[in-house]
Parts: sequence; structure tokens; C-alpha cells
Amino acid sequence: METNVISDVFGTKVFNDEVMQEYLPKKTYQALKKTIENGEELTPEVANVVAHGMKEWALANGATHYTHWFQPMTGVTAEKHDSFISAESDSRAVLEFNGKELIKGEPDASSFPSGGLRATFEARGYTAWDCTSPTFLREDAIGVTLCIPTAFCSYTGEALDKKTPLLRSMEAISKQAVRILRLFGKEEVTNVACSVGAEQEYFLIDRNKYLQRKDLIFTGRTLFGAMPPKGQELDDHYFGSIRERQASFMNELNIELWKLGILSKTQHNEVAPAQHEMAPIYDTANIATDHNQLVMEVMKKVARRHNLECLLHEKPFAGVNGSGKHNNWSIVTNTGENLLSPGSSPHNNRQFLLFLTAVIAAVDENAALLRMSASNPGNDHRLGANEAPPAIISIFLGEQLEDIVEQIIETGTADHSLKGGKMDIGVSSIPPVKKDATDRNRTSPFAFTGNKFEFRMVASSMSIAGANTVLNASVADVLEKMADELEEASDFDKTVDTLIQKTLKEHQKVIFNGNGYSDDWVAEAEKRGLPNVRTMVDATASLTEPKTIEMFENQNVLSKAELESRAEIHYEAYAKAINIEAKAMVDMATKQYIPAVIKYTTSLADSINSIRQACPEADLTVQTSILKDCSALLAKSQKALIALGGVTEKAGAMEEGKTQAEYYRDIVFPAMEELRAPIDELEMLVDKEDWPVPSYGDMLFEV
Ligand code: ADP
Ligand code: MG
Repeated sequence: METNVISDVFGTKVFNDEVMQEYLPKKTYQALKKTIENGEELTPEVANVVAHGMKEWALANGATHYTHWFQPMTGVTAEKHDSFISAESDSRAVLEFNGKELIKGEPDASSFPSGGLRATFEARGYTAWDCTSPTFLREDAIGVTLCIPTAFCSYTGEALDKKTPLLRSMEAISKQAVRILRLFGKEEVTNVACSVGAEQEYFLIDRNKYLQRKDLIFTGRTLFGAMPPKGQELDDHYFGSIRERQASFMNELNIELWKLGILSKTQHNEVAPAQHEMAPIYDTANIATDHNQLVMEVMKKVARRHNLECLLHEKPFAGVNGSGKHNNWSIVTNTGENLLSPGSSPHNNRQFLLFLTAVIAAVDENAALLRMSASNPGNDHRLGANEAPPAIISIFLGEQLEDIVEQIIETGTADHSLKGGKMDIGVSSIPPVKKDATDRNRTSPFAFTGNKFEFRMVASSMSIAGANTVLNASVADVLEKMADELEEASDFDKTVDTLIQKTLKEHQKVIFNGNGYSDDWVAEAEKRGLPNVRTMVDATASLTEPKTIEMFENQNVLSKAELESRAEIHYEAYAKAINIEAKAMVDMATKQYIPAVIKYTTSLADSINSIRQACPEADLTVQTSILKDCSALLAKSQKALIALGGVTEKAGAMEEGKTQAEYYRDIVFPAMEELRAPIDELEMLVDKEDWPVPSYGDMLFEV
């Protein structure tokens, strides 16, 4: 029999369908499948049998512990480990795991952010099994642990995590899409899922160098650092051949991901030096979200085995392209139909055009909210900085669909679709290549790419749950209104056409096929009335706008209280992140940079004095000029350091919330820049031997 490393290892650490069939009685397996596929309630009896099978499988694979694995609002995953051990009277260790332990956990929730949803004395929080996302085994220094994906909520049922609203939003869009599909005669469709493929960008740097940079250790990004003589201007890294050390990292990463059932598919070098990307094959939204969390975790772990450090921060190096996450999103029926697939003649594909129109309307109506869903402190450095999409939400449709949209807006219907045709490379031995109907546009934040939309704003270190929750819920909300109208229609086709035309006219302003990086677009977008929300702090306001609350409550995805708590968490998270950055800068400047410069200038002064003594007529202009410049910059640094220390202290004493976050953004952040500037200048003057930390050049080019 032919074997291959992929088929040998794939899914070996996952309680997947095959394993379920092996470890569960047929009836239990069928009941569980019904729950997974149709959301039918799981009885305690079935849960007990499933738990038993799961335990047997986990033990057979060396597991000693199990954990409810969840995604609190910190954005990283959390877990509390329990061993399978239970005391028995005859003093033998008996290994136990029952249905109750599988379904429900009760971690002390008081130390997770709740944004005021829970008073600290009400510490109860529950984790509840999400049986639609496969349970898996994690193997590390602790041993083997059975990890059960769960949702996390408060005693009163409010969501305290990222998964719960995502699952609710998936139900919402399914319900409304099924209603629409009924009207198109698709009786066999009972359920619709969102498919998501998250492309992950990251940097790999040498771990020894990483360990010498406190800024990277504490904040994930460099807070100081002068540009190296060579940046990314040669574009020689993008898709460049992969070097040995990174290659062995990628090889191991793939194997680890495959074991976890993650379909790691594409890998390549990115634009910036030391930057790479991994893309998996898409999956259902909640599974893709869980997988992306695992991808980030496994990347970090595997990198360390190769004495590398994986940086997931959005902007680890100033002046060098940062990292993002492309969230590819589509809607697929349980019968396997991709609702965003245009087919061969999209102009007369009413069903496709209706779903496309719904997405356009949802994105336009919730543009600020969507931008919020991609916001974290790190992403503020990227959006609108000509390396990532601007902070303005717009949709790229491509020539073919834009032409159809124009036809519909003008005449009510479209009568033709532009075709891709063949591309002639001009070399007779190379056969003509079939061309897509549409070129790509890398500058668009929300681009149609053939049979899916690609939301390109998402931050590289962030969970994709938020972005997909907003997408699903807002599209569900538009579909609901459409279904309400269409269910009443006497002439269905005509009503669909009118509805599409009316909706497109209303939301045409969000469609933009041009260069999103240009200044013209910023001006044009403003004329069109599209929001340009520049920072995470500003974006947060959209969470509690009346129309957001109405939309989320209407779709049963997030309540007003939950949204308000999320806004609080956002402000706090921003303030904390900047506070840590400011403190790290103060620390590094005080203990590393300033002493290093003092040492250097002292030795320079000593050398000037000795030369002067030895040879009074020697020309000392170079030395004295460097000494003067360094001393001036040193004084500037010290002044900026004191100022930064002062405002950081003041910010820390403020009450948590919007005002504090704004203070960090408007006062503390600029003070950080003031300190960075003279120190980066000093880096260019001071002897490399005396510089206390590795330079950008050391980190980016010597991996
Ligand atoms: P590109 O970004 O070059 O268009 P791909 O076609 O390889 O690249 O797709 C990028 C990502 O989009 C991959 O993660 C892929 O699995 C995902 N993807 C492809 N089709 C869909 C779909 N129907 N729904 C969601 N994601 C999809
Ligand atoms: Mg892409």
C-alpha cells in the first residue's frame, strides 16, 4: 500500500468521524452526529457514552488530563486541566470521565475580562462543549491532554467569550438563508454554514536575538530600532525560495497541524524580510476559528524547537510591512452549494445576485462595525499605512460583477456577463492559459475572489471569531428583511429583480474597484460618506451604536449588555497594551540605551582627551562632532523619557474606560514616539559594539 506522510499523520490527534465510529456504539454515534449536523439536543445518557468513548480513545493515546478549551475575551485561548484520576475505596487509581464533565465545566471566571458583566464576587462562569468542533489531543511537556472546545458564559448566560456569539451568528445566518433558499425551491436545504479560510502571516526571527529584546518579549513588537540599510525595497523575499532553517520549521509545523486535522495547504515567503504565510483549506466558521487559534499556538511552539521565535504581532518592525490575516468567507448549503459561486453566467443567476447583494448591503450598513471587528492596538499601525487595506471599508467586485451591477442599476436587469477569455503569453511552446473573469486587487479590504469574499483587514494576532460574527450576523439581518419581503411576493422573480436593483442603488457607494492605497480614494470615500475610522479606540464606539445593538439583538447574537461589556473590554485592552509598551520603553531607555550611550560618549571623550594630549595638533573634528551630536540626543532622550514616565503614570491613575483609552492614544502614544526618535538616531551614531540590543538588520536578515 502506498503511504505518505500526510495520510499517515493526518487527524491522528483528533476525535474525528472515523475515531467516533470506532469508539462509540452505533446508536450513540448516530445520536451525536444528529447533534453535530442538525443541532439536536444531546441527552445526558448519550453524553455519558460519548464521554466514555472519548476517554478510552484519549487514554489509548497516552492522555492523562482533559481540559475545557475556551476563548475568553483576552483573545488567546484558556484552559484548566483536570486529570482523569478519581479516588476509589480500594486505593487503586480509577480513571473517570463522564458526560457531565464533558458537557459542562466551571472555571473560576473572575480573572477573565468581563467588561462589567460580572461583579468580581460573582465569579461563576461556565464552559459548555461545542460538539461541532472536534475534540483533540495536545502533546507537550505536560504530557498528553484531551482538549474539548467549549463556549464560555456567565452564571446568567451572557457570553464571556468569542465563540458563543460566533455560534449564535452561524445559527442566525443559517435560518435566514434557508428561508431564502426555500423561495428558490431548494427544499432539500435544511441548513447553511459559513466557510472560512484564514491565511496567517507571521515573522520568524532568531530566538537568541529575540531574548535580547525586552520590547519583543513584553509587547510583541520593537519599540525602538533604526531601519537597516536594506529593507524590503528589492522585493526579493516575496515568494523567494525558502531558507533551510525556516524550511525545517515549516515542515514540522505542517506535520503538527496535520495531526490536529488542520488542512495546512500553502506556505510561502511574504513581502517583508523574515516574513512568511500559511494558509489552510477552509472549514466551517467555528472550526476554522478554533483551528486558527491552534495554528498560532503551534507556530509559536514549533518555532522554539528550532531556536526561532514566531512573531504574530501586526507590526513587529516599524518601516517594514506588518502582518495580517486574510479571512476568506463564503456561505455553503448542507447540500454542498456555494451560495457565492457566480456560475458561468452570473447576470441571470438570480439566487447568486440576491446573496451577493445581501453581502454588499450588510457590509455597507455595518462598515464601521466590520472595521471594529478587525481592530486591535497592533493593527492601528497597519491599516491605512499603504501596506494593508485602508481603514475605509469598501468592496472590490472585479470587472465582471461590477459590470453586472451597473447594468442592473441602469436597466433593472443584466443581459450579459463579461468573460475571462484566454491569455496569450507570447511563447508558442506555452499553451494559452484560461484567464479569470477578474483581476485581483490587493488594496481592497473586502474583495470578491471568485466564489468567496476575502476580508483583509483582520489583525494577525487576533481571533477571527469577531470578524466572522459581524459578517454572519449582518448578512443574516439583511437576508431576514429580504425574506420577509419575498415571502409576500406574488411575482417572485420580478420582486427579486426589483429588490436587487433597489438594494444595489442604495449601497453602490461601498463598491470600489480602484487603488485603495491612493490619497484620492480617501477623499472620494469621504465624499461618498464612507466611514474612515482611524484607530481602535474610535472603532470601538460602533459596538454600542443603536443600529448595532438593534442588529445584534434582532439576530440573537449579542445583547445590549454584552455589547456594552465588549466595548469596555476593548477600551481596557487598548489602554493596557499601550501602558505595557510605554513602561517597556521607559525600562529599556533607562536601563539599556541611556547607560550605553553614556558609556560610549565617555569613552569617546576619553579618547579625545588622550589624542589631544598625545598630539595637540591632531584634527579632532569628527570625534567632537559625534560627541556633541550624541550628547545632544542623549539630553533629548532623557527629556522625552521623563515626559513619557509622567504621562504614563497619569494615564495609569485614570479610571478605566473610553477617556483613559483616548488619553493613552492622544498623549501617551505620541510621547512614546518622542522617545523613540532620538534613540533611533543614536543607534546610527553609536558604535555597534556598544549598542545594547540586536538591530533590525541583525533580526531581519540574519535568521
Ligand atoms: P488566494 O488568496 O490566492 O485567492 P486561495 O484560492 O488558495 O488563495 O484561497 C485562500 C484561502 O481561501 C484558503 O484558505 C482557501 O481554503 C480559502 N477558500 C477557498 N474557497 C473558499 C470558500 N468557498 N469559502 C471560504 N474560504 C475559501
Ligand atoms: Mg489571499
